Amino acid sequence: MDLKSLIRDIPDFPKPGILFRDITTLLRDPEGLRYMVDLFANQIKEANLMADYVVGIESRGFIVGAPLAYQLGAGFIPVRKPGKLPAAVHSVEYALEYGTDCLEIHQDALQSGCRVLVVDDLIATGGTAAATAKLVKQIGCELVGFGFIIELRDLQGRKHLPDAPIITLVEY
Ligand code: 5GP
Repeated sequence: MDLKSLIRDIPDFPKPGILFRDITTLLRDPEGLRYMVDLFANQIKEANLMADYVVGIESRGFIVGAPLAYQLGAGFIPVRKPGKLPAAVHSVEYALEYGTDCLEIHQDALQSGCRVLVVDDLIATGGTAAATAKLVKQIGCELVGFGFIIELRDLQGRKHLPDAPIITLVEY
């Protein structure tokens, strides 16, 4: 199945000059959704990246991370924007093009030594995934790898990630 044909391009979103890769068209397609999750899970299994937990990044990382965790027999843990998680959190700040942003994880979600796979829908500059990896490593977890449906290769986001295997399904 051609996953790319199910991903829609939206010019000038969220800002003029940006070509947004919209996965909602992939998600709404029953065969496409199943194929994407199964392919993702199979590639993770083949690469031996079995983890105790899939950590998904808000918000599209939840949509792909939760079914992936289910398929892999792992637990799912959300990493969220500030102020969204109800219990005590660990936080990490990271640089954006203009200013900074912050991500949070529940303090009791992970313990030192847990094996963690970080998942999001897309890697662009790599800043979001790198910040999440930092959070996970600060807790003392083993980062077994990263998974993204889409990689925007020109932005070289991989360079900003710590050394760990990376699974991607579609590249632009
Ligand atoms: P990065 O931190 O790698 O520059 O940006 C990745 C984050 O931005 C991901 O959480 C991803 O969901 C979001 N993102 C950036 N550009 C796009 C895009 O074109 N399509 C989608 N679906 N998400 C994007």
